Amino acid sequence: MAAKRRTDQALFGIVQGGLDQELRKQSADDLVAMGFDGYAIGGLSVGEEPALRNHTLGATTAHLPAGKPRYLMGVGLPDDLVEGVARGIDLFDCVVPSRHGRTGWLFTSFGRVLIRNAKYARDERPVDPSCACPVCKRYTRAYLHHLFLVREMLGVRLNTIHNLHFYAGMMEQIRQAIASGTFAEFRARYYERREQLRMQTDSLDEQDSRTLAASLAEEGQP
Ligand SMILES: [Zn+2]
Repeated sequence: MAAKRRTDQALFGIVQGGLDQELRKQSADDLVAMGFDGYAIGGLSVGEEPALRNHTLGATTAHLPAGKPRYLMGVGLPDDLVEGVARGIDLFDCVVPSRHGRTGWLFTSFGRVLIRNAKYARDERPVDPSCACPVCKRYTRAYLHHLFLVREMLGVRLNTIHNLHFYAGMMEQIRQAIASGTFAEFRARYYERREQLRMQTDSLDEQDSRTLAASLAEEGQP
């Protein structure tokens, strides 16, 4: 703390403790006593089951002051963001928008699009017709499909731009829901809608799972 000189930067303490609630509490209490600008939660999203992660997360944020920002490190998929916010998380960072984009996985308002699928080869629609990102405004699914198949770097960039736009838009909706006191409704609607759209989302086959697993192994975990 004494080493902190700059007033335009916030110094965060990182709560550790794995999946042990007692260690998490001890770590949180010790850091809160030191009086950081904000608190990060580390050591989650390292392969544990989402239910266990969420349980540990809720048990950890309970020991952090509500008036200071809380940052969940290395998380996650859209569901993880909704569940993180539900447990008091304000900030996230994750490689998912770009890493999944590199494997041709696009997040949309109607679920997952796997752009390598042959059904997109002549599909002249944008990835997500309701998306206002520069990629959806200018390019077709067929073009992104082609770029992916020929391993053109532009495809990876366009996929990432779209995914980042999706994530930013989702967080915008979450902030609006919190501001209007309707986050619980937002969360319920999110899962209802996901259930309704289950048939529209591209299913992950074995090859997709292998491609993603290989990509994860190559790059290492965040
Ligand atoms: Zn888009």
